[in-house]
Amino acid sequence: MTDRVRTGAVPPPGPLRTCIGCRQRAVDHDLLRVVADSDSGSLRAVPDPRRRASGRGAWVHRDLACVDLAIRRRAFGRALRVAAPMDPGPVREHVAAQQDQHHQDDQHEPGKTPPAESRRR
Ligand SMILES: [Zn+2]
Repeated sequence: MTDRVRTGAVPPPGPLRTCIGCRQRAVDHDLLRVVADSDSGSLRAVPDPRRRASGRGAWVHRDLACVDLAIRRRAFGRALRVAAPMDPGPVREHVAAQQDQHHQDDQHEPGKTPPAESRRR
């Protein structure tokens, strides 16, 4: 019997958040924080890459597929506890611009090593 059971008992390298697009959990470094902004008079979902904005935040992958999924499900408003319809434009533009920059970078994830599971006795 050589198979190792994956227990999931190893703590992740950071807090886990749920992407409001694909609903998968990921380390928060992999996700973009989104907050509600009403400064311009209309309610918008804006990116908060520095995570400094106060208030409730939602998390989504820096991936247009996830952003679009979240838009289609109106997940921004739900996650941010906002009843009124939100304009997700700023978030989408932010992600689109980033995706353009790192076009080929998708598979390349430095620093992502599987956690060691040798502690069990
Ligand atoms: Zn996602």
